Amino acid sequence: MEKVLRNFFLYLANHQRLNQLAKKHGLRFGGRRFVAGETLAEGIDVIKALNRQGMMATLDHLGEFVDSEEEANAMAEHCIEAIESIAKEKVDANLSLKLTSMGLDIAYDLCLHNMERILEVARKYRLFVRIDMEDYAHLENTFAIFHDLRERYDNFGLVIQAYLYRSVDDVKALAEWKTNLRLVKGAYKESPEVAFPDKKDVDENYKKIIQLQLESGNYAAVATHDENMIAFTKRLVKERDIPLDRFEFQMLYGIRPELQKQLVREGYRVRIYVPYGNDWFGYNMRRLAERPANVAFVLKGIVKR
Ligand code: FAD
Repeated sequence: MEKVLRNFFLYLANHQRLNQLAKKHGLRFGGRRFVAGETLAEGIDVIKALNRQGMMATLDHLGEFVDSEEEANAMAEHCIEAIESIAKEKVDANLSLKLTSMGLDIAYDLCLHNMERILEVARKYRLFVRIDMEDYAHLENTFAIFHDLRERYDNFGLVIQAYLYRSVDDVKALAEWKTNLRLVKGAYKESPEVAFPDKKDVDENYKKIIQLQLESGNYAAVATHDENMIAFTKRLVKERDIPLDRFEFQMLYGIRPELQKQLVREGYRVRIYVPYGNDWFGYNMRRLAERPANVAFVLKGIVKR
């Protein structure tokens, strides 16, 4: 049943018409549980509150389907505005973005150019930019953009998804570029040809890539709400004497807030992924797919209206 619900929510996440409708009607149906608000100012307010609790943030302007050059350029402008706002408000945050929002599906060069504009501004403010990893169909081009930019910029990093068979090799290859990696289990619907279908295999592979990245000496962002994976990381860094400033835990806004605070109390670096914007539908559907029990929050949101 869990698998059926998961596939259903991932189908909804990818439904262009529903995403457009939701965008038009604003943030509702319990959407605020996972999304800071519709505006940049609301995102910054949430970050200020997180900073007061000892947590860092990564700010993400939501954008699911971008299908014109104008839209992609506007998304890049939003990112630049977000960087400037982070600097002006002096909040402890960096930026996350998706290459499809920067125009990857429209033209490779458009996306590359938008990334150059963003990384230039980020460099001016000494700010780090994280390129989120999307579905497998975009992986090769994401790596190509990475290589095109890496010689000129070092203020950005990638995400590796443990559900992909190739992820161990990718972590090894990226170590040569001293890449700062966020490590996740993976949030999209992928074919068994490219991704482990069973959760237990994903978990085993996740441990492998955490260990590889931590032992490479390159910065690791262990992005998970799974207490077993967090415990594994804590044990490993203790055994290998890895300093606390070589890695951080990351979690999504609204998920396991008590665990987030506990890690801060224990002295770990914790960064929260804070999405904002009106294009919230696909993001929220992926959160439901991860844990169909979240549907209860959505239903409450509908009943409250
Ligand atoms: P799971 O085994 O799925 O969950 C472990 C436990 O965590 C669950 O039992 C539950 O208690 C809790 N939990 C997990 N998800 C939820 C939820 N939605 N609601 C409530 N409780 C939950 N994926 C990508 O493909 N690309 C990315 O770029 C990307 N960036 C991410 C950035 C951050 C900061 C984080 C935290 C995740 C990101 N993800 C990304 C999503 C990731 O791939 C997983 O889908 C997601 O983190 C759920 O997996 P998990 O590691 O928490 O473990």
